[in-house]
Amino acid sequence: MEVNIKFLGGALEVGKEGILLTNGITKILLDYGSTVSDEKPKFPEHVRPSEIEAIILSHAHLDHSGALPYLYVSGAPELLATQATIKLSKLLLKDFLKISGDYLPYETKDIEALEKHAHCVEYKERIVRKNFEATFLNAGHIPGSMISVIEIGSKTIVFTGDFNTIPTRLVKEAEPNVPPADAIIMEGTYTEKDHPDRNEMERLLVEEVKNVVESGGVVLIPAFSVGRSHEIIMVLRELGYDGEIHLDGMAREAAEISLKNPSFLKDAKKFEKVLESINWIDRWSERRKAVKMPGVIVSPAGMLRGGAAVFYMEKVAFSSKNAIFIVSYQANNTPGRMLLDTKSVVLHGKRKKVEAEIKTFDFSSHCGRKELIEFIKNLKGEPKVFLVHGEAENLKKFAQEASEKTGHQVFAPANGENVVIH
Ligand SMILES: [Zn+2]
Repeated sequence: MEVNIKFLGGALEVGKEGILLTNGITKILLDYGSTVSDEKPKFPEHVRPSEIEAIILSHAHLDHSGALPYLYVSGAPELLATQATIKLSKLLLKDFLKISGDYLPYETKDIEALEKHAHCVEYKERIVRKNFEATFLNAGHIPGSMISVIEIGSKTIVFTGDFNTIPTRLVKEAEPNVPPADAIIMEGTYTEKDHPDRNEMERLLVEEVKNVVESGGVVLIPAFSVGRSHEIIMVLRELGYDGEIHLDGMAREAAEISLKNPSFLKDAKKFEKVLESINWIDRWSERRKAVKMPGVIVSPAGMLRGGAAVFYMEKVAFSSKNAIFIVSYQANNTPGRMLLDTKSVVLHGKRKKVEAEIKTFDFSSHCGRKELIEFIKNLKGEPKVFLVHGEAENLKKFAQEASEKTGHQVFAPANGENVVIH
């Protein structure tokens, strides 16, 4: 029996990922996220929750989970995800509601309902349901992230979610090989770019941080609470930076969740030890103190939209002895992107030139171009490959290049497109 794959969102774009698998008997939803760079979040195309047998959630980031509670306003589909993903999603969704609540069509009770209907899965575990079976593999992106292998009817569909085959300090690298499949739905965030050597990047970051701090400056590192901020503090400590590190935002709760689910971390003991050496910040008096002493401040929001990083920005940006180090992807139309492109920020409605040193360090938790090509090359059988989660022009170009380089059929579908796997 054929399977339909419908791209509800996240195709030819980064944000609001949502993919629907249908085979005439059942419907399975893969992720249901929101946009993260718009002030008013957008959702994928609507689906009827009552028609969905199960939702598979690849990982906790809001561009994959942000619209999920909406499906529990009037429905109760089963949610399959790792324990770390469920707990981290809940944390992020509650915060999302706090920040963007005016625009969101759900409430706290719908987030609670989502957790109630969740079934926790482990890596390599096999789940058998009435109309489909599935196994899950480590995706190497953030704690709890998974690649899903879904058998629906006689077809096998692999959904990578966001994945990373390069090892990091926080999580083990993704499983490099997936079983033979009829279709692969994979991310393409970095189709245009090879990541620089990770060890060299780590060495450079620590060297630059030491330079600034030893000269009496403050280094602001805007970073997401889930994933990146933890990776950065691991790098700083493991490479011998022993100065002050302040960690702000939900990174603390996120760390506690990760420690309670140690099987999703590379080395939980090391992580715990690093956490003990950190100065946690959750009060304004502490924030005001932190900007006055030499050290590193790691704070959300990762793209400088909202969060305590905005306060720190105001205090750190206008002195040349300070530095702002960008360690994550900056989407278009975000203050972080503007900072990189124009070396200026908008504060209280006024655009101001930044005096602090601005540098970027590539600590991506996504595959780079080389790894994406390698992954496609290693695919067994003759699967159709569908790219999602990337900028439109890049994905279209890469689909063609990857087809030529690997001999597989690679496509860059658009939102609303429906493909049939025979
Ligand atoms: Zn992600």
